[in-house]
Amino acid sequence: MNQSSSNDIIMIGGGVIGLSIAYELACRGKQVRILERGEQVGREASWAGAGILPPAIPDSALDPSEKLRGISHQLHPQWAERLQHETGIDTGFHRCGGIYLARKPGEAASLAGYVSLLNQQGIQASEITKYELLDLEPTLDPDQFHAAYLLPDELTLRNPRHVKALAKACELHGVQIYTECEILDIECINGSITGLQTTSGAVRGGKYCIAAGAWSSTLLKQVIDIPTGIVPIRGQMILVEGPKNLIRHILNEGSRYLVPRADGKILAGSCEEEVGFQKGTTPQMLEQLANFAYSLVPALKEYEITMSWSGLRPGSFDGVPYIGKVPNVDNLFMASGHFRSGIHLSTGTAVIMADLLEGKESEINFEHFRISR
Ligand SMILES: Cc1cc2nc3c(=O)[nH]c(=O)nc-3n(C[C@H](O)[C@H](O)[C@H](O)COP(=O)(O)OP(=O)(O)OC[C@H]3O[C@@H](n4cnc5c(N)ncnc54)[C@H](O)[C@@H]3O)c2cc1C
Repeated sequence: MNQSSSNDIIMIGGGVIGLSIAYELACRGKQVRILERGEQVGREASWAGAGILPPAIPDSALDPSEKLRGISHQLHPQWAERLQHETGIDTGFHRCGGIYLARKPGEAASLAGYVSLLNQQGIQASEITKYELLDLEPTLDPDQFHAAYLLPDELTLRNPRHVKALAKACELHGVQIYTECEILDIECINGSITGLQTTSGAVRGGKYCIAAGAWSSTLLKQVIDIPTGIVPIRGQMILVEGPKNLIRHILNEGSRYLVPRADGKILAGSCEEEVGFQKGTTPQMLEQLANFAYSLVPALKEYEITMSWSGLRPGSFDGVPYIGKVPNVDNLFMASGHFRSGIHLSTGTAVIMADLLEGKESEINFEHFRISR
């Protein structure tokens, strides 16, 4: 590895966040290196996710988190097109729309409240009748549901393909990606990072950005004693090998969902488990997910569950990611803690972090995402 350069930016972690920031910076002509512990980039939470991109509009956002969501949402179609054009990889970006379902009156009331908030921001979301639901999704039994809403601007992408495309695009733009390179220690002298100790030797750069997902707090604590609360929250998932078009929309009920892929595969997720850094699935949760899938779409019982997996989301205590400069350290930045929305928020995070790293004004208020909260 070319281990020393005073003006490049070193990205610690090659998940969707690190890759997206590196890609954006490289497109702006910056020299970037990604150091990734795994054998490949993008194989942790960014691979495990479902790829749901719920609708959002930046101009009418109620707070900076929603604004970041809105910026990201607007960027995804452009990024999907650019990535396909530059790499030839189809990321599976698809405007499938989402349907939100409630079985009980209480759930229907909270869903109505959520939809009213969306409508206030100008986001299209409307209640649909049982007939309309049946028309949109013929395999559902509409009598099961107390209420159903259609969100036409809910999008999806295939995140394993998206990260693969990002990695290829990064390389095409000159980003150097080093895998099997774990950061063991961050050296900080007089409020400045002087280098990294890694399993591939010492590495020095100009600026450093921690984008190590659920592992970010552990790295940050080596440098500064602030109570950044990123914790791993495990999510499990199953994949059913369905026929094409068995369902056409993302079906959401509470915190669970079914996500259709164009080839007929259907993902069913997920859950939030605090089990430390322990990955892996449990028979109980896989059964719950299968039962959830069958209860929404009974026809799925006919098809095989071919895969199951888990991933560790980088959860923050208030659900807001940590994005910005690390206080009292000249050249250390962080973008992490995106919890259930890292794939969605990756495009916007990339743009605002690139602005910050370049010393440009940003359209977002970083105070909201500050590392020291
Ligand atoms: C089941 C599940 C479903 C999800 N569904 C969605 C969804 O539908 N929509 C959505 O937007 N989000 C979803 N998410 C959340 C999303 O996947 C995450 O928020 C996002 O992937 C976080 O990206 P990241 O780059 O911060 O972390 P990661 O993808 O975990 O990447 C961090 C990288 O840092 C590397 N690393 C860690 N420590 C070191 C070190 N010391 N040295 C070098 N490298 C290191 C890791 O190996 C890893 O590759 C889901 C997550 C899960 C688990």
